[in-house]
Order: sequence, then structure tokens, then C-alpha cells
Amino acid sequence: MEQVVILGTGPAGLTAALYTARADLNPLVIEGLEPGGQLTTTTEVENFPGFVDGIMGPELMDIMRRQAERFGARYQFGLVESVEFKPGAHTLVLEGGETITAATVIISTGASAKYIGLESEQKLIGRGVTSCATCDGAFYRNQPIAVVGGGDSAMEEALFLTRFTSDITLIHRRDQFRASKIMADRVMNHDKIKIRWDTVVEEVLGVDQNEVTGLRLRNVKTDAVDEIEIKGLFVAIGHQPNTKPFVGQIDMDDVGYIKATNTRTNVEGVFAAGDVQDAVYRQAITAAGSGCMAALEAERYLESHG
Ligand code: NAP
Repeated sequence: MEQVVILGTGPAGLTAALYTARADLNPLVIEGLEPGGQLTTTTEVENFPGFVDGIMGPELMDIMRRQAERFGARYQFGLVESVEFKPGAHTLVLEGGETITAATVIISTGASAKYIGLESEQKLIGRGVTSCATCDGAFYRNQPIAVVGGGDSAMEEALFLTRFTSDITLIHRRDQFRASKIMADRVMNHDKIKIRWDTVVEEVLGVDQNEVTGLRLRNVKTDAVDEIEIKGLFVAIGHQPNTKPFVGQIDMDDVGYIKATNTRTNVEGVFAAGDVQDAVYRQAITAAGSGCMAALEAERYLESHG
């Protein structure tokens, strides 16, 4: 039986791997579909402490991966299909049928930003289409940009982006925001933000140029179609935590985020770290911090259970 199995290789999982490896717990890390997590889909990371000139997301994840490996973390590619959590011996079933049992499990499978679902959008992710204003906003200084969404995330992203540019179009599919009134009022009263109500993005323009050049928009009430020129599209229509395999085995909120207190879940010996249990901060550094917490919690749990 494994002492520690870590699911996911974003900043939370890799930090948990580093700490548990250094504690001689010989962790096994299961890499999912997107090794390195969301950071591998961004370009330059300027807000991870320690890198004065910034660092490319994939490089940062590669460094973290090798740092944990140096102390004995083992990596295995695999997708967890289902789990059976039983304190003492948790069972993980991987796609293909392999079964792993573990005394402790650290779930750090992250969350995935939701995208609109257009082919042109998919092709331009990382080339002008992004889901993270904190990560990428500074690249669009004085450029025309658009934000899609009507919830608090879209409001927050649009307001944050006013630091960099005064040409922001906020596109929402209805004539009313879902966001809290205070956030919606701030956006509606902001002179750098224009709002396009009842509007959906039909196509992201610029696939041939390999960079975003504009959007084709459609008014859902009048069916009128027009195009706007932009350099960056910030999609802020929510995140989905990657928790499907754990449904019914662990406490989650309505959206699917794992409920955890100091990374401890309701199941003994199962810990959650990073975006899979955090709908609020969602930063690489907070994920890494909670990965460290989960590792220390797992270590304490193993100590107290012999
Ligand atoms: P959300 O509240 O679910 O809002 C998602 C928004 O995206 C909605 O306006 C929705 O439109 C729109 N949308 C969804 N799918 C779409 C699609 N395919 N095409 C176009 N538009 C689409 O998600 P969120 O804004 O990420 O917020 C999640 C939770 O975190 C909320 O509870 C929120 O209050 C909280 N949060 C709080 C803060 C804060 O307090 N500072 C900041 C961020 C998030 P409809 O309105 O038409 O459904």
C-alpha cells in the first residue's frame, strides 16, 4: 500500500509532492490529462514570488516537478476514474483498470476554466484568448479588449483590467448581470467599460493570423451581427472543479468544490489542496501554499496512525 498518493500536478500537487518526498513518505503522483495544470496553458507568470523577471508557466511547472523528483517523488501517468474512500486503505481505480491503495490521498486535481465552446476560441487560447486577467492583463496595456460573462468573476476581471486599458467591452448574454449589485454597479458606472447586453460571441477572429484580432458578435434579441476589433478576449464564465471521480465519496458544495478545513476533508486521511477546494483565490501561489499544508496534514495523520 502507498503511504501518500497525490492526484494532480499543478502547483498544489507538486508542492505536496515536494514536502511529502522530503518527509521520506515516498509519494506517488498521478499526472492527469494536463500535466502541470492550468499554468501550462499560460505564457509568462509574473506574480509567482522568486522570479524577478517572470517565468514561463510551463517552465515553472517543470522546475517544481524536478524539485520534488530530486527528493524521491514518483510520477505515473493516469486518469482516476473512480475512488472508494475507506479510512486506513483508500482505493483509487485508474482508467484501464489499475487499482492503487493508499493510506492518505491528496486531491489536487484543480479546476478548469469554462470556455464558450467555439472552435475559433479553442484555437486561440494562449494567443489572445485567456481566462485569467490576473495572469495576462498586463500584456494588453492600452489595447482594446473584451470580457465575456455576467457574474462576479467577469465584473472582477473587467474592473481589474481597467488598470491597463481604457477600452474594455463587457459582453453578456442577457440584459441583467448575475453578479452582486455592488460589483455590477461598479462596472456599469465605469467609464472605461462599455457593456454589450443580450450579446453572444459567434466567432473569435484572427485564427489565420494566429492571434486575436476581433470578435463577431450577435445580439440574441434582434439577431443583428457586427464585428469589433480587440486584441485580447477574457472569458470569465465560471470554473468547474475537476471532482467528478469523487462524487458521492466526499463532501462537496453545490458547484462541486471539495469542502475542506485546512485541507482536511470529511474523510479521514483524504486531503484537498489548490483550486479543487478554492473558488475564491485561485492563484498559483495560494495553490502551492495549500499543497504544503496538505502534505503536513498527511504527514501528521500518518504519524498519529502508526
Ligand atoms: P457565475 O456566477 O456562475 O457566473 C457565470 C456568468 O457567465 C453568468 O453571468 C453566465 O450567464 C455567464 N455564462 C455562463 N456560461 C456562459 C456561456 N456559455 N456563454 C456566455 N456566458 C455564459 O460564475 P463566476 O462569476 O465565476 O462566480 C462563481 C462564484 O464565485 C459566484 O458565487 C461568485 O459570487 C463568486 N465570486 C465572488 C467574487 C467576489 O465576491 N469578489 C469574485 C468572483 C467570484 P447567465 O447570468 O446568463 O447565467
